Amino acid sequence: MQQKAQKISILGATGSIGKSTIDVISRHPDLFSVFALTANNNIELLLQQAHLCSPEYVVIANPKQFQQAKKLFSEQQLKCEVLAGHEALVQVACAPDVDVVMAAIVGAAGLLPTLAAVKAGKKVLLANKESLVMSGDLFIQAANEYNAQLLPIDSEHNAIFQCLPADFKYGDLCSSGISKILLTGSGGPFLNTPIDDLHQVTPDQACAHPNWDMGRKISVDSATMMNKGLEFIEARWLFGLEATDIEVVLHPQSIIHSMVQYLDGSVIAQMGNPDMRTPIAHALAYPERIESGVPPLDFKQLADFSFTEPEIARYPNLELAMQASNAGQYATTTLNAANEVAVAAFLQGQIGFMQIAQVNNECLQQTSTHNLESIEAVLESDKTARRLSASIIDNLSRTELQKVGS
Ligand code: NDP
Repeated sequence: MQQKAQKISILGATGSIGKSTIDVISRHPDLFSVFALTANNNIELLLQQAHLCSPEYVVIANPKQFQQAKKLFSEQQLKCEVLAGHEALVQVACAPDVDVVMAAIVGAAGLLPTLAAVKAGKKVLLANKESLVMSGDLFIQAANEYNAQLLPIDSEHNAIFQCLPADFKYGDLCSSGISKILLTGSGGPFLNTPIDDLHQVTPDQACAHPNWDMGRKISVDSATMMNKGLEFIEARWLFGLEATDIEVVLHPQSIIHSMVQYLDGSVIAQMGNPDMRTPIAHALAYPERIESGVPPLDFKQLADFSFTEPEIARYPNLELAMQASNAGQYATTTLNAANEVAVAAFLQGQIGFMQIAQVNNECLQQTSTHNLESIEAVLESDKTARRLSASIIDNLSRTELQKVGS
């Protein structure tokens, strides 16, 4: 008997992950139908996507865009209902008709809708790593309590998931004979740039990743390796790992997406061309396999295959993230918020590239230990860190201006 197509809500449909998701599902109209597509501001692309996918709902998160979105959708006689605001994101994430939620909003804005999908017991394809970085313990508890199925989309976590044995028990490497998780990263565009030149890096240079085509925020995070730091925290929560269970390895070619090392010396690696449609297709179809549109690897074309250790002086954000992960939930929430504010300030030309880590560090130093026992407390801590990092950035900008003036 033919199975009913699964209904999917794509949160962050107009972003890099959202677009790749639409590319994969449009290859399999018999398997997937779209319940909802969401964007923050990009009405034009949302319209095009609605023509292609015929969703039942579209959500424009920024309420100021609501009237314009309604007007354009009705002019083009699209049948879907247009909703606006952050409550509407939550609504389409947990609607009873939805089977699968792609959580691909960037940043802290993804937390509440992703958590709503988890609490509704959905199959959640997790790209929004910030949800776990901010609320790891509460998030995992909710996934267990409400029987949500969490499938990692981040290529590294998806690779680890594929390399673990099918009977892997959360947090128990020993029973599966695993000695280490090897989290790989490319090192970004500045792997070989002299460290003294890094303060001159421009936003466009930072966003030009050598292997991956991604949104601007995660591209900057890849260049500073904050992305690897957030992934380190994410991996700990997703698989129940101790910090010492994970080793970060630089692999500039981005062909191996991560590895699991076993006690007998075996290492199982997941490989593929650097294209997010592979982990997306894997998670969408799991436990089956479907075609993703990604060309197969041609091993004859792979000239180099190298591995090194990340230099701390080049990537201070990586060390900060590891320290925050050991300090606890308040520190990872603070770091995530500070980093979002600092990256936005860098992209707007307000601070330099190496000042991102400086802002993050100062924000962490100025934040005292506190417990986060509810989502409200997480959101409050996030807000406080954003205010603090904005004032650190103001002070930095004032000091720079004084230097220029003197
Ligand atoms: P993009 O910046 O390309 O897209 C972000 C999406 O989120 C867009 O649809 C955007 O809408 C929407 N959005 C932005 N701000 C808000 C907000 N305040 N409220 C609601 N929606 C909002 O990001 P990516 O696709 O690159 O990344 C998405 C997530 O996936 C991130 O958490 C990232 O870390 C993770 N990820 C991404 C990878 C990649 O290869 N890109 C790889 C692994 C993980 P609009 O277009 O209207 O602005």
